[in-house]
Amino acid sequence: MALQYTHPRNILVQTLKTLYDYGMTTTSGGNLSIKDEDGNIWITPGGIDKGSLRPEDIVRVAPDGTVHGLHKPSSELPFHKSVYQLRDDVKAVLHAHSPALVAFSLTRRMPDPTLIPSAARICGKVAFAKYEIPGSEALGNIIAQEFAKGNDSVIMENHGAVMAGKTITEAFARFEALDYVARIQINAASFGGSIQPLEGKLPKCSYPEFIPDVVSAAECELRDELANFRARAYHQRLLFSGSAFLSARLSDKDDFLITPSNFDPMYLDAPGIVRMRMGMREAGKTPSTATPICRNIFNKCPWVNSILMMRPPYIMAFAVTNNKIDSRTIPESYIMMRDVPILSSKEYFSDPDAVVKVLSPANPVVLIENCGVLTTGKTILEAFDRLEVSEFTAKCIIMASRLGELSPINDQQVSDIIEAFKLPIA
Ligand code: 13P
Ligand code: ZN
Repeated sequence: MALQYTHPRNILVQTLKTLYDYGMTTTSGGNLSIKDEDGNIWITPGGIDKGSLRPEDIVRVAPDGTVHGLHKPSSELPFHKSVYQLRDDVKAVLHAHSPALVAFSLTRRMPDPTLIPSAARICGKVAFAKYEIPGSEALGNIIAQEFAKGNDSVIMENHGAVMAGKTITEAFARFEALDYVARIQINAASFGGSIQPLEGKLPKCSYPEFIPDVVSAAECELRDELANFRARAYHQRLLFSGSAFLSARLSDKDDFLITPSNFDPMYLDAPGIVRMRMGMREAGKTPSTATPICRNIFNKCPWVNSILMMRPPYIMAFAVTNNKIDSRTIPESYIMMRDVPILSSKEYFSDPDAVVKVLSPANPVVLIENCGVLTTGKTILEAFDRLEVSEFTAKCIIMASRLGELSPINDQQVSDIIEAFKLPIA
């Protein structure tokens, strides 16, 4: 979303609310700042309830150091100030304490953003900063030194994380992506198995443009639906920056809608979605890099009208360890997911037909190593339901693995489900 007309006070309140609502910080933890064109630092107040902050609570620290506002500035003003002093390109600093990143900070381990596509690009260079007492000049210097070396994200020993950006949106995307990677690794540790590295990526494709003529009511409706499910997926914590695509068939004439490359998971709206028609992209927009894969699925699998792919943190624990996700655990899971084939990321990246080869009405969900879960459906709702059920099932299995041995449902029970619900057979 373009925030250039939004006052820094409102941006800070909105961003802190998002962090707080998603459990990425507590009432007393975390602080954010923005440096404006005139050199003012707008910063959250210190020791004030982060769950009910109002725009008037934000403090302005003028370039001469004078403080303006109803409260004292955050106790971490020293590191915010030092980062701006040493990095001219930085215009926003975000500090928060998400449980997953704090877990890494407590064990002195670094989450590995190279495990999944896009995260390394979003997080930038990640480093560790030595422990120092919160709010001290010493902590300010240590953190600022890490940013002066060109790092973009810093994990603070026994404390939390600090991210810098050209905008608060960039700093937030860094925090969120690193937090997801940390959660994926923590969930994967339940298997005690090895995490495999990601190799390769989807190639970039170029498409000729077409200028759309009249926009039909059906297209408007489908765009709204995709944007609404984007919002729903974001609020369910199924999606973060650079981690997903959503698409839906418009007609059976090689015509579909898809989310753009690198869309903002928090704000993408109906007009931002891209129409692809006969291999051409809607003028002025860049579709997801997964467009060739979706195009093949829509053209070769007539039963599919919507395709979604996301990297939610429990499913991803299976995807990064190449573990099969057993849907024969809960009737709802088997009905929605059926047996889930695993595709290697190499096949997925190199062969745009790889998904088509394993997809069928009896196998509507595919797990792709390190990349995510791809779900299909007759409608967007059905594909979304499959996505939610996949993440729910992965979460149940991981939780069960901490309790004891899991008892799956048996073959006879599976046959009974197939018969009772008239499920397609592979
Ligand atoms: P403030 O409330 O002073 O911003 O401090 C929160 C915090 O996280 C300290 O590290
Ligand atoms: Zn803190």
